[in-house]
Amino acid sequence: MEKSDVLYESEPVKCSNCGKDLFQDLSLSMVQIATNDEELITKVVPCCKGECDRRLKRLLRDNEHDGWKDLEDFTNPYLFLKHIMSVLNCMHEGKGFENKEAFEAYKDLIIKCYPYISKSMTEKEKESARMSEIFPF
Ligand SMILES: [Zn+2]
Repeated sequence: MEKSDVLYESEPVKCSNCGKDLFQDLSLSMVQIATNDEELITKVVPCCKGECDRRLKRLLRDNEHDGWKDLEDFTNPYLFLKHIMSVLNCMHEGKGFENKEAFEAYKDLIIKCYPYISKSMTEKEKESARMSEIFPF
């Protein structure tokens, strides 16, 4: 799958069970998104569909509910943004993530998928990006 040159050093999204690069076969890849009784996200777990999904599902606590998305949804520009907006809306309503680990896992997923939905940068944009490292705000 084609990637932009934004974040060109980004790591692959790996299966949390077997460690496989999930972009090798996107159609067989998914993201478990578990929630608790208060609908807070408790886990964000990229994995292979099938056996790896089943094994990881066994680690859910009694009060966790199983949910999932195709990893491919996070490489679709419309669905990518739609999912982030949905999570931001939940956070605004005081919901969102139950724990820091799930929040960090979600951010990691978004960052790693971003090169697949973004365009490559112009030289002017690359220069602006370099300058932003010197002057963050
Ligand atoms: Zn796997």
